[in-house]
Amino acid sequence: MMTSAVTHADVTDSFDSDQRHDLTVTIRQWKSQPHIANFPAGNLQLSAATSFTGCSFLQIKKFLAAFNIQSISDRTYFNHQSQLLHPTIFWQWKCDQTILLQQAAQDGAVFLGGDMRADNPCRYTMMDLKTELAPWRKSIVNHLHWSCSTSKSGEETVAKWKSVANHVQDIHTHDDENFPTCLHEPLIGEDARQWLKPNVEKLKHCGEKRCGEASVEAFHSLILRFAPKNVAFSFLGMLCRFLLTAMHYNENADRPQATTSSGELRLHRDPLQELLFERVVENPEPYQELLQQVYVPPPLCSQYDRLDKSEAVARHKSPLRSYG
Ligand SMILES: [Zn+2]
Repeated sequence: MMTSAVTHADVTDSFDSDQRHDLTVTIRQWKSQPHIANFPAGNLQLSAATSFTGCSFLQIKKFLAAFNIQSISDRTYFNHQSQLLHPTIFWQWKCDQTILLQQAAQDGAVFLGGDMRADNPCRYTMMDLKTELAPWRKSIVNHLHWSCSTSKSGEETVAKWKSVANHVQDIHTHDDENFPTCLHEPLIGEDARQWLKPNVEKLKHCGEKRCGEASVEAFHSLILRFAPKNVAFSFLGMLCRFLLTAMHYNENADRPQATTSSGELRLHRDPLQELLFERVVENPEPYQELLQQVYVPPPLCSQYDRLDKSEAVARHKSPLRSYG
């Protein structure tokens, strides 16, 4: 299969006027790339490599232009994305998620903790806290009740509640003037339980692999790589970038790269590429239908009434226009 980024469709040689009058002239055609199910293979490979690695097509296009390599148009890329690439990513995620949830179910009840990042885009990372925090669960629930019932202000409640993260690590002074130290006596014997170490290793993402707090941070950093804040994506575009992040994270977390018997690193086979080129491209409908089941909320601006044009102009020109 051709792998270079040459992306022309079929090109017919041109002939000068004398040749056109020569009836014996032979028409020759050359193809710059093979086709897969009517898609020029190199074009689709370029789109897939760009999308599946979370790259920006506009940047890839600039890079190719600087290299003087012809590329596909924006329209072709976004067509590939909506028709084939997004359905492939979503389908693969659903397959991965099913397996991970089955594994989680075999381990019994899951005790979840959520970590929300309220920046743009907002996101939740859910983790299974059961293994490490099980001995602490009752105390943590009690502490939440105590934080609420003994505080005179919201700040004090939050400060007390947050202190539990230090307390379980045997740290009893806190960087918060609303609750600078724990109120309990020094803990000895039975009370001095299994203190947790920072960056607990046994926490794990819900539906994802093991990770500690440091790994959650790594996961968030990875999200920023796949979905940078300074770029606007469509709802499905953003969703697929989150899914790619989770799949990429799960693929690489806590797992050394496979090696051959002679110790050489084994080449990684990308399941997304396999799915796309061996199945989706031949019959995309079932994959597209699965993605169409995702509820796409209307844009926020659709909740506002659109002003009549003449009214908008009148308001803009009026010296008495209201800023309310
Ligand atoms: Zn304490």
